[in-house]
Amino acid sequence: MIRQPHADESDRVAAARVVAVRTYPYFARAMFATTTMVSDAPIVGISPGLTAVLPAASLWDDLDDLADTFAHLVQHWVRRHASRLAGCADATRAGLAACLELGDPDPVSYALPAGEPAEVYYQLLESASADAEGHGSGSGGDPQGWEDDADGDGIGEATGELIRRQVARDIVDYQRSAGDVPGDLVRWAEGEIADPVVPWSALLRQLVGSAVDGALAGSADYTWRRRSRRGGPDTRVITPGVMSRPPHVGVVIDTSGSMNDADLSAAVGEVHGICRSAAQRVTVWSCDADAATGVEVRQVQALTLTGGGGTDMTAGIAAAASHQPPVDAVVVITDGWTPWPAVDPGVSVIVVLVGDADVETPPWAQTVRRPTWR
Ligand SMILES: [Zn+2]
Repeated sequence: MIRQPHADESDRVAAARVVAVRTYPYFARAMFATTTMVSDAPIVGISPGLTAVLPAASLWDDLDDLADTFAHLVQHWVRRHASRLAGCADATRAGLAACLELGDPDPVSYALPAGEPAEVYYQLLESASADAEGHGSGSGGDPQGWEDDADGDGIGEATGELIRRQVARDIVDYQRSAGDVPGDLVRWAEGEIADPVVPWSALLRQLVGSAVDGALAGSADYTWRRRSRRGGPDTRVITPGVMSRPPHVGVVIDTSGSMNDADLSAAVGEVHGICRSAAQRVTVWSCDADAATGVEVRQVQALTLTGGGGTDMTAGIAAAASHQPPVDAVVVITDGWTPWPAVDPGVSVIVVLVGDADVETPPWAQTVRRPTWR
C-alpha cells in the first residue's frame, strides 16, 4: 500500500523538505527526523512513529504545495494530536478537529472560530460534518491500514519526546529573535517547556496525606467526610505521608486584566507541573469577576484561558469547592489583587501568588510565592 520513494521521488521529497524548513525553521528537527513514504493511492497521513505518507502523484505538484502538506503532517505529530485526542470517542471527528487547529481546512469554512485548539473544535463540530478521510492516527484521527507498514522503522516514544521538546525550544527562541511565529504555536511551545517552580508532587502528597491522617485521628475533616460519603465504607490502608489514591485537583486561574503575559505564562507552567505530578484528575476554572465552566485537562496543551475583566477569586473557589465529583484540593493561581471568601471554604486551598505583589492571603490557605521572570 505504501512504499519507499523511487530515486526521482526521493529528490522531490528532499526538495519539498528544504522549502518546508525554510518556511518553518523551528520545525527543522522534526522535519529531518521524519521518514517519508509514498503511496500510489491518494493517501496523505502521519503515523505515531513520525512516518509521513504522500501520494506519489502529488510529488510533481507545485513544490510549495507539497512543502505545505509535509509541514501540515509534521505539525500533527509535533503538537501531540494523537495523545491529546486519544480520549475522543469519534476518531474521524477528532482527526478533522486536529486539521482545523492547523488551519487547513480553514475553520471559517465550517462556521467555526479560528485559532482554537483541537479539543475545542472536537466539541464544536457536529459529528455529521466529519466526512474527511483524516491524516492517520498520528494526527489523532482514525488509524489507517498503511500505518502498520509505516512504523516498522518509526522512531520510539522517548526519541519522539526529545524531538518535541527541542522543537518547542526552537519555537520559543525563534519567536524571541524573529517574532513571527503564530501565537497559538508559541503558547503550545511555552506550555511544552514550561518548568513549574512549585514542587507539586510533594505539596499535594503533604496536603492530601494530612487530610487523610487527620480523618484517621478522629478529627472532623470536611474534605474527608465528603469523600467517604461518596465512597461508602472505606477499606483503604493509609500509610502516613502516602496518598491512598491520586488526588483530583481543582485549579482556579486568575484571568483578570491585572494578570500580565508573564503571570499567565507562569500559571500555564504550574498547571503543567500539576498535570505531571501525582494528580489523577485536574479540572481548571478560568476566573475573572466570574468563574468560567470547569474543564478537565489532561495535558497543559489543551488549556484555554478566558477572561480579562474584573477580579474575584471567591467565584472560582466556590465553583471548584462545589464541583461534583469533589476535588481534594483547590489551587488558586493569582497575582493576589482579589477579594477572598470571608470564611474557610471547607476544602484545602493552595494559593500560588505569581509576581512579587505585597498582598495578604487568607489564613485558611497555604500560600506559595511564585516569582515571574519575563
Ligand atoms: Zn491534517
